[in-house]
Amino acid sequence: MSFAALGLSEKMLEGVRAMGYTDPTPIQLRAIPLVLSGKDVIGSAQTGTGKTAAFALPILSKLGSHNPVGPRALILEPTRELAAQVETAIRDYSRFTDLKTTVVFGGVGYGKQNDELKAGADIVAATPGRLLDHLEQGTLKLDKVEFLVLDEADRMLDMGFLPDVRRLVEQCPRKRHTALFSATIPPQIETLIQWAMHNPETIEIGARRSPAENVKHVIYPVSDTQKTDLLLALLESVNYDSVIIFCRTKHGADRVATTLKRANHAVAVLHSNRTQKEREQALEGFREGKFEVLVATDIAARGLDIADVSHVINYDVPQHPEDYIHRIGRTGRAEATGDAFTIMIAEDAPHVFAIERFISQKIPRVKMEKFEYRYTALFEEPKAGAPAGFPGKVRGGRVHGGYHFAPGGRRR
Ligand code: AMP
Repeated sequence: MSFAALGLSEKMLEGVRAMGYTDPTPIQLRAIPLVLSGKDVIGSAQTGTGKTAAFALPILSKLGSHNPVGPRALILEPTRELAAQVETAIRDYSRFTDLKTTVVFGGVGYGKQNDELKAGADIVAATPGRLLDHLEQGTLKLDKVEFLVLDEADRMLDMGFLPDVRRLVEQCPRKRHTALFSATIPPQIETLIQWAMHNPETIEIGARRSPAENVKHVIYPVSDTQKTDLLLALLESVNYDSVIIFCRTKHGADRVATTLKRANHAVAVLHSNRTQKEREQALEGFREGKFEVLVATDIAARGLDIADVSHVINYDVPQHPEDYIHRIGRTGRAEATGDAFTIMIAEDAPHVFAIERFISQKIPRVKMEKFEYRYTALFEEPKAGAPAGFPGKVRGGRVHGGYHFAPGGRRR
């Protein structure tokens, strides 16, 4: 089915054509008619599925043209980067209309936001904290909001934003349309749904728990002391154009970045201790190819739309299984193929098993060719009753057993 058959306005169809989209993605096929018909929608699509256009296109279609009464659509996002990304996408989609879009987030001055809000925005993409500040200061009112989108609701919950979200929802008119997107629906989100939504229709796209099919993913077991060496060897051995390396902590990310810089990699770092300007420069430089490597923490990177990521490397195994899906979802987007590598040390085993249970899939363990492995317990034969998946044994310094060797190939 084409975009034209979904009932979008002519201006939106022009916008979609200008973006180069030919066919709607599955979530767009399902969500666009529902939102256009005025239904509340709960979506559980993964990132990279075209979720933004799925809610933005019908909302923009219904908003039509500029009206200076105040924002009629509000989109709440957990991070500044996501808010900025959604603003950009909406500006792109609405380029053939006179609709005005603005973004509101913390960590920057109020001047520009105040000016834009005063000038009258039809659509506001925002993080909850700063938006509340604007409400308190009287620089913004939400009493004209007709469309409310709660994006990445589970992440807003994780980050402790749910009380702020509730306060913001209370400021919106009761008579409105609400869409909520969340990878998982824990009880707190269920409560929010009961409270904030009216007879919502649920759209589940694909299995919620499966990684993107076009991503090849493998695990590299290694001893704790060789993690960094293995990372450097991995970077040397693969043909990468752009790689995101995920670390558990901000300090860890800084340490890895320093090591990679010393090894002459062009590296940018993205985590929440960096200033807004540094984060923007890191993302922009990475998107433009100035940096080949982006070292990031989960919160900073969740949901970011970065095109053409050839590889994702988990320097640290994610603690939450769903973060695994989000991380490896950075590669293989928009039907490109990508590779995802996870470096695993002995103490990561329970987290790896949790991920494998979560995705109902065993992730192949592989060995780096020509890498001098030191002994690691991960290479021992599994004992009777132990979880399968760690075959192989070190004899005379060599590793035997059921490991595959990862395909090599020099970096460009
Ligand atoms: P999202 O899941 O909203 O972050 O979108 C992921 C990427 O897919 C973005 O780069 C979008 O521009 C792109 N995209 C969204 N819808 C389509 C479509 N129908 N055809 C091709 N690309 C799309």
